[in-house]
Amino acid sequence: MDLGDSPQEAAFREEVREFVREHGHKARGGGRPAGGDDGGEGMPDPETMRARMAGMQAWREALVAKGWIAPAWPKEYGGAGLTVLEQFVLNEELAEHGLSAGMFGGMGVMMLGPTLLTHGTEEQKAEHIPRILSGEARWAQGYSEPGAGSDLASLQTRAVRDGDEFVINGQKIWATAAQFSNWIFMLARTDPDAPKHRGISYFLIDRQTPGIEIRPLTTMANQETFNEMFFEDVRVPAKNVVGEVDRGWYVGATTLDFERSGIGSAVGTMRGLQNMLKRGKDAPDATYATQQSPTWRLDFADRIVEANIARQLSNRVITLQARGMIPNYEASISKLFTTELRQRIARTHLKMYGLYGVLWDKNRAEAEKGRAATGYLDSVSSTLAGGTSEIQRNVIATRGLGLPRG
Ligand SMILES: Cc1cc2nc3c(=O)[nH]c(=O)nc-3n(C[C@H](O)[C@H](O)[C@H](O)COP(=O)(O)OP(=O)(O)OC[C@H]3O[C@@H](n4cnc5c(N)ncnc54)[C@H](O)[C@@H]3O)c2cc1C
Repeated sequence: MDLGDSPQEAAFREEVREFVREHGHKARGGGRPAGGDDGGEGMPDPETMRARMAGMQAWREALVAKGWIAPAWPKEYGGAGLTVLEQFVLNEELAEHGLSAGMFGGMGVMMLGPTLLTHGTEEQKAEHIPRILSGEARWAQGYSEPGAGSDLASLQTRAVRDGDEFVINGQKIWATAAQFSNWIFMLARTDPDAPKHRGISYFLIDRQTPGIEIRPLTTMANQETFNEMFFEDVRVPAKNVVGEVDRGWYVGATTLDFERSGIGSAVGTMRGLQNMLKRGKDAPDATYATQQSPTWRLDFADRIVEANIARQLSNRVITLQARGMIPNYEASISKLFTTELRQRIARTHLKMYGLYGVLWDKNRAEAEKGRAATGYLDSVSSTLAGGTSEIQRNVIATRGLGLPRG
């Protein structure tokens, strides 16, 4: 088996490296590295924050010029029309340098854009695609509800037709970064009498519409990462329904299919481990673990082995996609392993600093200003987001192994 690059892929890899040499410095110091090892680092001071934002904007513009904000999209829509393997090379090379193109696009590029390209009207594409690429539109996802998460088809938010509009009432929860969004893509029930997977429609909602209230939720890592969203008599034009009315479940499933492959994070995971080791060798409060503790060394060696496995699992998903096949339980294996690994890495990171590891006040904690502690807390949600570990195991058992549904 040859896992090396073809001549075309090698040439493309060199193009990406050249791009990173020319523009990579703009992004450094800004945002989090792709698939970081150890989670958040707390809020930087305002001046640092401004410098980072300026650098990130310049990095964004360089990516837009190449079409690499949305590398999979056709060129006519501002993408780069890359093949699956070229996207793999791009993600891999950027992650290798601690960079990412995906950090800008957010849900607009990752999820909504491809959905509109598949199911949207020409009017919807013309209105939204350019604004997704420019960053003018910042999208939030309104799928989950207090009573509908894993069993999403149980959602109860109602949309009732009234002339050329729908009137929406209900509640959504866990909407990532919705407090910073100006548009929402959302599922709501348009026919309560139909079987639960039918009678759902997919809406695009301008956040300025009266009747929307967004309340941030504080996570146990003390960050306002996601939100509750309340809808009270929110009037949405009927032209903002994507796909057919009552067939939104299938449009919504397309959105989920377009989640990025895990390769960026698999490469980022290995890089994160190497950085962790480098820091640990120098930090006075970590040297006991890295230099003298046999148990920590064995623990860390396991993480390295697992990071290599994660990469191979991602490779498998990519290889299937490159052959035009849709990864099924293989993607669940990769998601399950990578997110559980992220939690094990966070624990290994914490242990590197012994009792200091749990200090998270960045002004008092010596251990990387509390990153080990916040990273550990942050890692907990990774096995819930995007389908819980139990759901992934169910998929592997039923679709992968042919076992009956429980
Ligand atoms: C960091 C993060 C970001 C998120 N961002 C968004 C977002 O932007 N927009 C959005 O709409 N949602 C978002 N979510 C919500 C996410 O999709 C849900 O948390 C997820 O689908 C699980 O649903 P739930 O939380 O309601 O848990 P439940 O479905 O209530 O599950 C509770 C527990 O029961 C288990 N369980 C449920 N069903 C089964 C089963 N059939 N077999 C075995 N075990 C089962 C689950 O594994 C879990 O342990 C986010 C979640 C997280 C953690």
